[in-house]
Amino acid sequence: MIDLEPLTINGSELKLPLIISGPCSAETEEQTLKTARELASYGIKIFRAGIWKPRTKPGGFEGIGEEGLKWLKRVKEETGMYTATEVATSAHVKAALREGVDILWIGARTTANPFAMQEIADALRESNADIPVLVKNPVNPDLELWIGAMERLNNAGIKKLGAIHRGFSAYGKHLYRNMPQWHIPIELKRRMPNLPIIHDPSHVGGKRELVMPLSQQALDMGFDGLIIESHCDPDCAWSDKTQQITPDVLNYILNTLVYRDETSTTESLNLLRQQIDTIDNELLEILNKRMRISREIGQYKKEHRMPVFQVDRHDNIMQSRVKTAKEMGMSEDFMKTILSAIHEESVRVQINILNSRQ
Ligand code: PEP
Ligand code: MN
Repeated sequence: MIDLEPLTINGSELKLPLIISGPCSAETEEQTLKTARELASYGIKIFRAGIWKPRTKPGGFEGIGEEGLKWLKRVKEETGMYTATEVATSAHVKAALREGVDILWIGARTTANPFAMQEIADALRESNADIPVLVKNPVNPDLELWIGAMERLNNAGIKKLGAIHRGFSAYGKHLYRNMPQWHIPIELKRRMPNLPIIHDPSHVGGKRELVMPLSQQALDMGFDGLIIESHCDPDCAWSDKTQQITPDVLNYILNTLVYRDETSTTESLNLLRQQIDTIDNELLEILNKRMRISREIGQYKKEHRMPVFQVDRHDNIMQSRVKTAKEMGMSEDFMKTILSAIHEESVRVQINILNSRQ
């Protein structure tokens, strides 16, 4: 059981939706302050910047290190924004606390590593820290690992916890840099309704043009905020340049988004509806996959001069699927209707293939 408190800094509660923005990495003092000043002028209250950057391969920009913490301090003094940075070791935790960082976040690669999480939790306990910590989902789609990381922090006395949904790695090229797998954060919300969960469209999409649609989708699904990467000159960013937007564009996006009003009386209904929406999307994906395979079978049958309809195959499918459905508690008629409709469409598509010229 995780013991949660609202997210507060020095006694003042952070308002939801939580909006956090700033560069992927603090690169120079000038870039950090310029970006921060622009964001502050648009009313952004929480500034993010990576000081230590976990990179896939050595040789890339691995973060400016401790020196950057001084820049965050200046951001705070000059703009009044709260500051947030990523920590991955006990040394990072100690340095960030010493320099007055207001919010810590745990990166996706760190959440996936229980030893690192324990080390961070121990460092927070030793420092008697009472600071909001936001935990990104692990790179792999493992809800228990995500919850386990938060439990370690909670056991160390951290009660101001939040989660960040930044998507999950998948092999190969996809529309998204990291697959959203929305059902995972939704299940987290169902299990821990008081845990604020914010969405990170920058790391899910990996592209500027996906920031807005992903943000809207997250708000529609009832997420509690957004963390969006912004940079005063995104094309020249030292890390994640394809997904960073200017503070100007961020301001436009935040003003264009539709913020849903979710009252507590409809909260559980909304959660259930979100689950239905997600499952329907998954059903569509699966049906689409089935139709693709069906088309391949059609092509095979054409090449081998086989008929489309094979009675015993059809009877087998019906019987075995209806039996399984009944065992699951669904009605026989319902399953027969669905299977017949799917089968009919497969036959129609395969006949078209058989009659096509090539
Ligand atoms: C980041 O926020 O810049 C970052 C490194 O994110 P993630 O841990 O989600 O990859
Ligand atoms: Mn980044």
